[in-house]
Order: sequence, then structure tokens, then C-alpha cells
Amino acid sequence: QCTNPSGEIGDSSCCHYETVGKLNIDFSSKLHEIVDMPFFRYFKVNLYKECPFWSHAGLCMNRDCSVETMEESKVPEKWKSKTLGKVSMPLNQVFGSFPSKPVIKDQDFCVPETKSDEVYVDLKENPERFTGYSGPSAALVWKAIYEENCFDVSKEMTAGCQYCQAERQKLEEQEQDPEHHHDHEKNILVPPEPAPIRETRPSEEEMNEIFSKVPKGKGELQSLIQDIAKNVEEESCLEKRVYYRLISGLHASISIHICDEWFNQTTGEWGPNLDCFISRVGMHPERLENIYFDYVVLLRAMTKISNYLAGYEFCTGDNAVDQNIKTVIHELVDLVKQCPPTFDEKLLFRDSSTKQLKNQFRDHFRNVTRIMDCVGCEKCRLWGKVQTMGLGTALKVLFSYDEASFKGRKGDDVLTRQEIVALLNTFNRLSESVVAIERFSQMYQARLDEV
Ligand code: FAD
Repeated sequence: QCTNPSGEIGDSSCCHYETVGKLNIDFSSKLHEIVDMPFFRYFKVNLYKECPFWSHAGLCMNRDCSVETMEESKVPEKWKSKTLGKVSMPLNQVFGSFPSKPVIKDQDFCVPETKSDEVYVDLKENPERFTGYSGPSAALVWKAIYEENCFDVSKEMTAGCQYCQAERQKLEEQEQDPEHHHDHEKNILVPPEPAPIRETRPSEEEMNEIFSKVPKGKGELQSLIQDIAKNVEEESCLEKRVYYRLISGLHASISIHICDEWFNQTTGEWGPNLDCFISRVGMHPERLENIYFDYVVLLRAMTKISNYLAGYEFCTGDNAVDQNIKTVIHELVDLVKQCPPTFDEKLLFRDSSTKQLKNQFRDHFRNVTRIMDCVGCEKCRLWGKVQTMGLGTALKVLFSYDEASFKGRKGDDVLTRQEIVALLNTFNRLSESVVAIERFSQMYQARLDEV
């Protein structure tokens, strides 16, 4: 049974699912217009960083997994820096170099990219869609992402959760590991930084070691995630529920993009795959709901920075282009300002027991952004980076700054160009998911009518 969600979104959001559907009608066309502009299409990214958590579990060799980087001549002069000498550098020339250590500010919910080996990618030319990436590598990445939900692994908090108990034990063991160190204050495992870049592929032995950590079949991963979800639900801790819903919403949204632009190997054509949608998202109401949850969180972040965004100096080096961007951004900001309140971030981290969770919440989300370097498909990694940075930017806006911090600010001292590009592209992807849910519902209804 697939039904569209209805009622209040909950967990700090008094907005209704139906309201999101209505608001999205206007947002969707405006966001399309925005992400079509070069300023928002060209994304600077490091696609070649080594996974800091485990040796690389293989690269997806499908043609659809690869990313076309931009020619240097197409990158606006203003955005180039000395480090961009490596634009479009082939992967094999990148091996052997060592990234410089990124500087992470306290406010950041994402780990910034290392400057060396960054390339510009045209997001429009590399759409997020079905690539065929799946199996042990993808399962290991999703497992690691959900495991970050266990951010308070004290004995009391883990009592009801098998997975979290195991996690606590693992942390205790890893404390002894000279390769990692465990930050007691933050209760988090810190990987060695900078992560060295491998010069060779992992050996057969290493690969076996990596695969031994992969959940055996879908059932095991499913029960692990269910265990985490149950724990989050039973514990009635708002912050943990919010965290889980953000991750699950992102996962469901990615699944929808895959199903919406599916490659039919029999016909050789791209198009929506209703069965894919039903099995991955449609028949799991909470996954559908979590997409809307992500949407209202992003919309709230947009509301908070609306004046800042309206005054942002886009600096493309061409006044006419800057003016065009400003016009469309103003139209978007007008829409944002007409929205009812969607999410109240002030309800999180407000008493003494949850205040200390804030840093853990941030540090674990940072780890999710680090995990993106473990995605074994370039295009999935690209979009994983865009969307985790987009969510991370929203969290930074909501939890690291108050409204006054944005007053009178115009430039990239609060949010970088990268963060704004990621935020708007992520908002657009969620908006497209909401549109796709509507379309899939109609396809489902038409199928029911046929029988
Ligand atoms: P998966 O999506 O791998 O899910 C694994 C398990 O998680 C499921 O069995 C289920 O128990 C549980 N689960 C699934 N969804 C949710 C949810 N929303 N909430 C809670 N639990 C859930 N593939 C592409 O073709 N194109 C891409 O662009 C792409 N991008 C990716 C980006 C990232 C960061 C990652 C990690 C993977 C990406 N993939 C992409 C792979 C894709 O997400 C799937 O892993 C793959 O298609 C295999 O799907 P699956 O049916 O085995 O379930």
C-alpha cells in the first residue's frame, strides 16, 4: 500500500505534509531556474580523496558512475586559485600526492575539502541518477552512515540498543589502536589526518578484510538500521530522532532519484521505474515522511538566511551575470518569506542534558561528510558530497548562528560559495523528490485502476 503522507511532520516541525506539497509547486520551478545558472552548476570538489575509515572497497567501473570534470577554460577567472592548476587532472596523476590538512571551524558541520586535487564539475552535465552502484561497497557506506546515529555511546544510553552496545565496545577496542585516537570529550573516533592517498589498489587480502565488515545480505543491514531506528524512537530523545530522520530522508531522496531516472537495460532507455519506487520508498511510509522532514529543515535554513542571501555578493566577474543571479535569488527569497514557519530549531539542545549533545551531533555529521570519500562510484560520491554539504550547511545555519549573525553580512565570510551552491542544489533535489512522489503516486493509482 502506497499512500502520500498526511498530517503534522512532527519533531520540531508543526508544518503539514500537504503544506509542503503545495509550497513546492512554486519552489520547484524557481529552484530549477537557479540550478541551471553556471554559478550554481559549477561545483568545486575533491573526488579523489582516500577513504579515511577503511581501505577502498573497489571502484564502480560502469560508464554511468564516472564524472566529467570541467575544462579549466570554462571556469570563471574569479573562482580560480593557485591550487586550481589541477583542474581536470586524470586520476592516475593524482595518486601519490598528499592533501593538505583542511581547517575546520567550530561552526562547521562538514569537513571542508582539501584544497589540492580539487576539480570543478558541471552538476548539470553529471546528473544524479541510476548508475548501477550497489553491493558490498554501497552497503558498507550506508552502514557507516547510519552507525553515526549512535552518538551518545555512554552505558546508560546504549542499554536498549544492541548495535550501540557493540559500538561502545568497538570504541573501547579502537582506543588501543595506534592508528586512531578516541577523543573522550567528544566521544568520537578521530581518523588519522590527513588520510594518505594510496598508490596501489588494495590487495586481495585487504579486500577480503574489508568485505568481512559488510553486512551479509540486505536482511542484516535492514535489521541493523531497524535496531538503530527503534532505539531512537524508544529513547524519545528529540535530537537523535532529528538526526535519524535527516539521514533516512537523504537516503530515501537519493533512492527516489535513482528510481526516477532508471536505466532500463532491456529497452536501453532512461525513465521512471515504479516498482523501484514502491519497494525502496513507497511501501515505507516513514521513509517518505523523512524526505519532507529534510525539506522543512532546509526551508527553515533558507528563511533564516533569506536577507543575507538577498544581499550576497555573487562576484562572477561579470556585472550583467551577477545582476541576473540577484534577480532570481530575490524571487526565491520572496517565496521563502511567504512561507509559514516550518521548523523550530530552538527546541533542540536547550536543556543542560542535551546541550552537550550538540557537539557530538556536529562531529558525527562531520563524519558522514568524511564517509563520502568511501563511496566507490564517482558520480554517487559527487552527489553524496553535494547533498551532505547542503544538509550540513543547513545545520550550520540553524545551530551555529543566531539571526543577528547574518545582519549586515554580504560575502562569503559566513557561508562560502561552495556552501551556498550545495544548499541550493540539495534543496532542489529534495524539491524534485517531492514532485516525483506525486508523479509516482499517479502512476501507482493508474496501475491500480487497470486491474
Ligand atoms: P540501499 O539503498 O543500499 O539500502 C540499504 C538498506 O538500508 C535497505 O535494505 C534498507 O533496509 C535500508 N534503507 C533503505 N532506505 C532507507 C531509508 N530511507 N531509511 C532507513 N533505512 C533505509 N546508486 C545510484 O544508482 N545512483 C546514485 O547516484 C547513488 N548515489 C549514492 C550515494 C551514496 C552516498 C551511497 C552510499 C550510495 C549511492 N548509490 C547510488 C547506491 C544506492 O544508494 C543503493 O545503495 C543501491 O542502489 C543498492 O540499493 P538497495 O536496494 O540494496 O538498498
